[in-house]
Amino acid sequence: MVEETERDGMTWYRCEKCGLMFDDPEDARQHEENCDAEEPSYLQ
Ligand SMILES: [Zn+2]
Repeated sequence: MVEETERDGMTWYRCEKCGLMFDDPEDARQHEENCDAEEPSYLQ
C-alpha cells in the first residue's frame, strides 16, 4: 500500500515496502508494483 504523508506543506507518497518517497501518486503506485523489498533493511 502506498502511504500518504504530508511534509513541508506537500503531500508525499511513500512505498510501505522500502520507504521510498514520491511526489506523484502514480509514480509511487507503479514503483510499489515492481518493488521487491520484502524484508525491510531496518530489521536486520
Ligand atoms: Zn518500494
